[in-house]
Amino acid sequence: MEKRQELYTGKAKSVYTTDDPDLLVLHFRDDASAFDGKKKESLARKGKVNNIFNAFIMQRLEEAGIPTHFEKQLSDTESLVKKMEMIPVECVVRNIAAGGLVKRLGVEEGISLNPPTFELFLKNDEKGDPMINESLAETFGWATPEQLAEMKSLTFKVNHILKQLFAEGDMLLVDYKLEFGVFKGDVILGDEFSPDGCRLWDAHTREKLDKDRFRQGLGGVIEAYEEVARRIGIHID
Ligand code: 5GP
Repeated sequence: MEKRQELYTGKAKSVYTTDDPDLLVLHFRDDASAFDGKKKESLARKGKVNNIFNAFIMQRLEEAGIPTHFEKQLSDTESLVKKMEMIPVECVVRNIAAGGLVKRLGVEEGISLNPPTFELFLKNDEKGDPMINESLAETFGWATPEQLAEMKSLTFKVNHILKQLFAEGDMLLVDYKLEFGVFKGDVILGDEFSPDGCRLWDAHTREKLDKDRFRQGLGGVIEAYEEVARRIGIHID
């Protein structure tokens, strides 16, 4: 497999074509960004930690029956993935109130959400990823009703699998965002799963162990990501 040209560069990852038209290389960089790119920093080891973390989680999800774009880890900071047609809709599940939900609805941070909530956002940085719904997604052709149903079902299956995995490391999966795409007609999980796109709290102290450390300037960002990895049995040198 030969890496060819850069296809796209995002805020934390770059995507390269390969000599196989069905496969791409994801390069996890050390860049961190928040607030639609208004806060930016380079954090040493971030690319490596997130690449290894994501590879572990994607493999766990595949084993549990979730179809993903992940093929294999290529190096410390690169992974091989299937080339999908991305669906520009972010799926968010929340088990505990935090972040955007607290801001939007004024509910108390930390209350448990039963049943967990499911929200859709349009992937559009310029507009600040606005909240959307199934009707808007269908009307504007962002996703079909069938794709939306599959995305919702897969997002809740992921919740079941990962809540348990993080609980074994004494952590609470507060919320997370997933992105999907279409590969050979099927909806599959894309993007990444790392502490950049979810909230994880220590189950006892409720200490934040995720990207909120960066957003809120709490420090110890990558140390927290590595602590999460260690607690679920991921070894990173
Ligand atoms: P909120 O709506 O509270 O800001 O985000 C809910 C969850 O989805 C959080 O775990 C957050 O990290 C994740 N999330 C939502 N949108 C994005 C995004 O554009 N980038 C990243 N990295 N995570 C996101």
